[in-house]
Amino acid sequence: MSFSSLGLSTSLVQAAHANGLVEPTPVQLQAVALILQGRDLWACAQTGSGKTAAYALPLLDRICNTPSPRKQQGTRVLVLVPTRELALQVGEVLSNLANKLPTPIRTAVLYGGVSINPQMMRLRGGADIVVATPGRLLDLVRSNALRLGDVQHLVLDEADRLLDPGFADELQAVLALVPSMRQTLLFSATFAPAVQTLAQSLLRDPVRVEISTEQQALPDIAQRAIAVDTKRRTQLLKHLVQQHGWSRVLVFVATQYAAEHIAEKLYKAGIFASPFHGGLSQGARNQVLQEFKDERWQVVVTTDLAARGIDIAQLPAVVNYDLPRSAVDYVHRIGRTGRAGEQGVAVSFVTADAQAHFRLISKRYQLDLPLEVIAGFEPTEQPAPASQTTGGIKGKRPSKKDKLRAAAQAAAATANNEAD
Ligand code: AMP
Repeated sequence: MSFSSLGLSTSLVQAAHANGLVEPTPVQLQAVALILQGRDLWACAQTGSGKTAAYALPLLDRICNTPSPRKQQGTRVLVLVPTRELALQVGEVLSNLANKLPTPIRTAVLYGGVSINPQMMRLRGGADIVVATPGRLLDLVRSNALRLGDVQHLVLDEADRLLDPGFADELQAVLALVPSMRQTLLFSATFAPAVQTLAQSLLRDPVRVEISTEQQALPDIAQRAIAVDTKRRTQLLKHLVQQHGWSRVLVFVATQYAAEHIAEKLYKAGIFASPFHGGLSQGARNQVLQEFKDERWQVVVTTDLAARGIDIAQLPAVVNYDLPRSAVDYVHRIGRTGRAGEQGVAVSFVTADAQAHFRLISKRYQLDLPLEVIAGFEPTEQPAPASQTTGGIKGKRPSKKDKLRAAAQAAAATANNEAD
């Protein structure tokens, strides 16, 4: 099946080919024609499955080939994303496709953490397509740099993240600014049960696109779990990097402090490692990510800021130095490797205290992984007794659900602080 058989016009098919997209991926096969027909979508497809082009191609087609309803046309496509890095990445995909089209299409990428003035200047000439994180988008609307009254197509990329409570107020504010008569497209690898009702309320007669695991080539990710003592994790990480000769590794930790601290320790041990987190300036964030993509860093130690959507070609390994607080982030984190048909390995360090949490993640995703022990790193720690974590007050012990809820809220708060 080719892109032209999905109903895309010749110029879009040519733009796809010019960008190396020849055969549609399963999510593109299902979504493109429906988007061209103007349907609302709720699309659940794995990370790395070609989601961006699945909405970028038909939406570019629609704005190229559907006459504007008004002479003075404002922004017609609004793509919301939860992180600045994803805004840049999606903006790049859209611009690369738009640049190959005969019709000039103006795109603007708006995100926080950098000066607002260049973005205001960029908007002066108007923008057909805006890709934005919600906070900066609202700042620009409040400054009268942008109006959203002409938006015809709204995309929520990494939708379940945008629908969680951390973004609730900003999302509601954006929804109040866009017309209610619009096409709405939700894309995510996961849709947590808690956000499904809200997601449903945004859509009109949606088609649910669910790419089954039989249809999509499962990413080739070998998952491993290694039991290790808390204090030996950095040594074990160093050992694994050297033993496997991984050219690049993305290491996930729980805090910005840990990202700094561990990167520094690795660097001092002769491994080119850099931290990447929301506490860095946006310029530094962009630089580290670009340098990692350019293979100038061997290891990047990051918070969940890098868990979603970031596309790094040929990333052979991901390490969960700390397990993710929210179970869905396990899927997003490991999805950074094994992209576009490549092989990858995802290693989780499981300390004694994290064993219960790892069992929850394993149960949720039916992982069934043996807990490996590496020679020279045999664990000696015992899990802390429950009384140490609860203060030992009878009847006050949080349930598993309470713990998961608290963890999800903490993760949402952290990630949101890092978005914009
Ligand atoms: P995404 O899920 O949008 O992050 O895309 C993941 C990767 O798949 C990106 O590197 C895309 O360039 C690549 N990709 C998307 N669509 C296709 C396609 N039809 N053929 C080959 N590669 C693709």
